[in-house]
Amino acid sequence: MISLEEAREEVLKNVEPGKPVPTPLGLARGHVLAEPVHSDIDLPPFNRSAMDGYAVLAADTAHAPVELAVTEDIPAGVTSAGRINSGQAAKIMTGAPVPDGADAVVMVEKTCPLEGNKIRIEEPVESGKNVAPQGQDIARGEVALETGARLGPEQIGILAMVGAARPMVFPRPRVSVLVTGDELIPVEARPTGAQIRESNGHVLAAQLAGDGIVAKSLGIVADDRTELAQKLTVAMETSDVLILSGGVSMGDRDFVPPVLAELEAQVIFHKVAIKPGKPVLFAKKDHCRIFGLPGNPVSALVVYELLIRPALRKMVGWTEPLAPPQYATLRGRLPKIIGRRQFLPARLSDLSGMRVVELLPWHGSGDMISLAPMNALAVVPEKPGTAAEGDRLEVLPRDF
Ligand code: AMP
Ligand code: MG
Repeated sequence: MISLEEAREEVLKNVEPGKPVPTPLGLARGHVLAEPVHSDIDLPPFNRSAMDGYAVLAADTAHAPVELAVTEDIPAGVTSAGRINSGQAAKIMTGAPVPDGADAVVMVEKTCPLEGNKIRIEEPVESGKNVAPQGQDIARGEVALETGARLGPEQIGILAMVGAARPMVFPRPRVSVLVTGDELIPVEARPTGAQIRESNGHVLAAQLAGDGIVAKSLGIVADDRTELAQKLTVAMETSDVLILSGGVSMGDRDFVPPVLAELEAQVIFHKVAIKPGKPVLFAKKDHCRIFGLPGNPVSALVVYELLIRPALRKMVGWTEPLAPPQYATLRGRLPKIIGRRQFLPARLSDLSGMRVVELLPWHGSGDMISLAPMNALAVVPEKPGTAAEGDRLEVLPRDF
């Protein structure tokens, strides 16, 4: 059985970012830039007034208070054709170009209007005051954002300012989710007898949504070889990533591995030394990458976090698809060490500046209900003597 590290390496080795596509800004959030973006202008594009006030020659105000003649009025959006000479001032609004000759703006609060188009400047102002010089933020042709930049609100703002209306970004893969199990019924129905409500599809859709992906739900398929083969054939053709839930373990009706083999998908690994999630399978067929998740609800959830999220991040262009490890001090109940790495529902909290993790009471991988207060998974090492009270434990905070 391979380790989690080996499994991740295999997964990441077998996925690549897609071919970049131009994307309108309104849809670019959460995408990753596929090429650097250069500014097509200087920013600010002109010497911009940062205040409502009066554009002056700073030297004129050296012995303020001083009276100046107001020669014009410059609102935002207007470039003055005139020039400010010594003894003169122009009324100017925030965002307007500072007229030639002037080298500072006196804020309106430090002036007093006088009769006959005159203004009194109350205090001296130094050269450059309240003027944002042309090109101060970026010069035309300079790189505004590098390849690999993840586009959040700030980056979208930068793209807008530098004229990148349709930046080249990595596309999101087409992801489908197919859930297997004879016992499964829709959430709206009330289970009778041996039936179970289908929840994994909903959990996976929520996890995918957190990664910016709207997955296609292919519904529930029975534990029937023929039906599964039919569904899988179409699903593999139409998806870049196919997530299967259930049917990968050792049961008599766990048909995912034999059917994938029959369809000539290449199984890259089956089983990883983790708990929950051991039976996980990873396969590929042509452009499609297939994750077979164990059906137990918490197993499926954990495997998504450990293997599928990094794969999707690489596919959408993240240069660091694995989050850097985080740690907390273990308190309370101690885990049993079992020779496989465990990912246990836990609660992270702050205890007077110390980050503390406590294991939650839990009934195992079928028990989703006990996860209600969970805000992290605690990572319990496979080796004995590594998880005592007060030990530093790796944690995977839930960041939704
Ligand atoms: P399997 O991996 O198919 O053997 O399923 C393992 C356990 O998970 C069984 O108890 C299933 O009833 C349960 N299970 C499988 N698929 C789902 C699902 N989509 N939603 C909720 N429980 C499931
Ligand atoms: Mg099953």
